Amino acid sequence: MPEDDPDPSEDAAKARDAKPPPRAKKRRFAPIKIANQIPMRRRREIEKALGEVGASPTKWSRKVGGSKNHNFLRKRIKPGTIRHLEYDLLDVEIGESWPVPVSVIHGSRPGPVVTLLGAIHGDELVGPLALTYLCGPNFMGDDRVIDASVLAGTIRIMPIVNLPGYRMMMRDFPDDRDLNRCFPGNPDSNTTSRVANRLWEQLISSSDYVIDLHAAAKGRTNIPQIRANLAHASSNRIARAFGIETILDSQGPRGSLRRVANDKDIACITYEGGGADEADPESVQIAMYGIINLLRSLRMLPGYPSKPRFRILASGSVWIRSDQGGLIDVLAPAGSFVEEGEIVATITDPELPGVQHDVMSPIQGLLISSATHPFVNSGSPIGHLLPVKRGVSTLKRRLDDEGCLIISGSDGDPPWREDEDIEDIAVFGEWSGGSPDAEWGPAGSGDEEEDY
Ligand SMILES: [Zn+2]
Repeated sequence: MPEDDPDPSEDAAKARDAKPPPRAKKRRFAPIKIANQIPMRRRREIEKALGEVGASPTKWSRKVGGSKNHNFLRKRIKPGTIRHLEYDLLDVEIGESWPVPVSVIHGSRPGPVVTLLGAIHGDELVGPLALTYLCGPNFMGDDRVIDASVLAGTIRIMPIVNLPGYRMMMRDFPDDRDLNRCFPGNPDSNTTSRVANRLWEQLISSSDYVIDLHAAAKGRTNIPQIRANLAHASSNRIARAFGIETILDSQGPRGSLRRVANDKDIACITYEGGGADEADPESVQIAMYGIINLLRSLRMLPGYPSKPRFRILASGSVWIRSDQGGLIDVLAPAGSFVEEGEIVATITDPELPGVQHDVMSPIQGLLISSATHPFVNSGSPIGHLLPVKRGVSTLKRRLDDEGCLIISGSDGDPPWREDEDIEDIAVFGEWSGGSPDAEWGPAGSGDEEEDY
């Protein structure tokens, strides 16, 4: 980051000073409106899940004291303490064990276990930065936002899971496998599968909540967004608690941490922001706010979580594709709200100077992802669009001068508001190819289809 850029940790530091609520909270778990656009079957699944949330909001007690030691990696961590440890990704006596840092913040009060993970993909740097800032002196320690003496429960932070890949600036592990397709792993199988199994057994299976931080794969960028299976009750709850506008309802690909965790009834969501090989300060800051929001919503930290003015709950999308080949100039970047027929990019061909082709949006909606690599062929995806039909005026009130969505947490500490005051905007449809990223196809170095 250049020195003249604002330090995202400074802005996010304001999160320490939570504003008091404008009025007393009526209900801890307000009923959530579900718009009619979501397909009926999915609507029933989500409503059933939300019923479960209301029935059993917490299973831990809130009394002062009474927290026991937290046992992790054969260490006993005392209540009210913070330990910075090393975790070996491989269990070996000789050779490379790939030690990675892990911080354990064990609260003085009993509560849930939350695990925060960055860089399961080694070239996605937003997660490592956000988690490193959260572990730094501005955020962690006595009288800071994460203070073990007031924390209820336990936070385990692994800022950079795929350290071997990170050192080579690569998404995958050194055996060319994607860790996020190998869960729950196998201790007798290939290298990446052994890493997955060890993480699963020692870190994930003992977690109540898991937040997995990602960025778009090479060649594209994402606006900050949450991906969650909204029909999984506790995942639905923390997806909303993160406090940002865009939530994509999807299960996650086979072997992904999120999908496998949900299958074992562990709450898990994915945060996506920015792109690989970049350290977008806004995506970092929003991730930090989101995590603090989530911990406050779970009543692990004092203070009131901030909430967005509206949430887009999307079950499908529309793709903007190039009909020509050449080099693109993106006019409407990710985050833009575009009208039907609006020019989102132009294409020129250096082999045919003087000819320009416009790419137009087929529909009105919010661009949640756009290409950053300029080379396109006919059929290449250029943008990924949520076709917003309801709540348009609400959404337009949160656009900046360039027509881009101002995401909650990007413009300073967002306000607290009642859950009933949040407008839920459902976006109907399906994920082409079966999942949010499927249509991007191969990106950069690998043959992956998905960002997370
Ligand atoms: Zn990823």
